[in-house]
Amino acid sequence: MAVPKQKKSKSKSRSRRAQYLKMKIPSFSDCTNCGTPRPSHTVCPVCGFYKNKIVVNYSE
Ligand SMILES: [Zn+2]
Repeated sequence: MAVPKQKKSKSKSRSRRAQYLKMKIPSFSDCTNCGTPRPSHTVCPVCGFYKNKIVVNYSE
C-alpha cells in the first residue's frame, strides 16, 4: 500500500477543504411534466417523471 512520504501541512489540507464549499450545489433542471426543480439525471420527486414517461407512480 502506498504511504504518504510527508504529512500534509495544515494550510495544505485546509486550503483543499475550502474548495468543498464551492462544489456543493449540483445542477438543477425543471421537470418536463410538472416544472418542479429537480437534480438533473434523477427521477422527479413530485410526479415520478423521467425521460418523457412516468417511471415511479407515487399516487398509489
Ligand atoms: Zn415532475
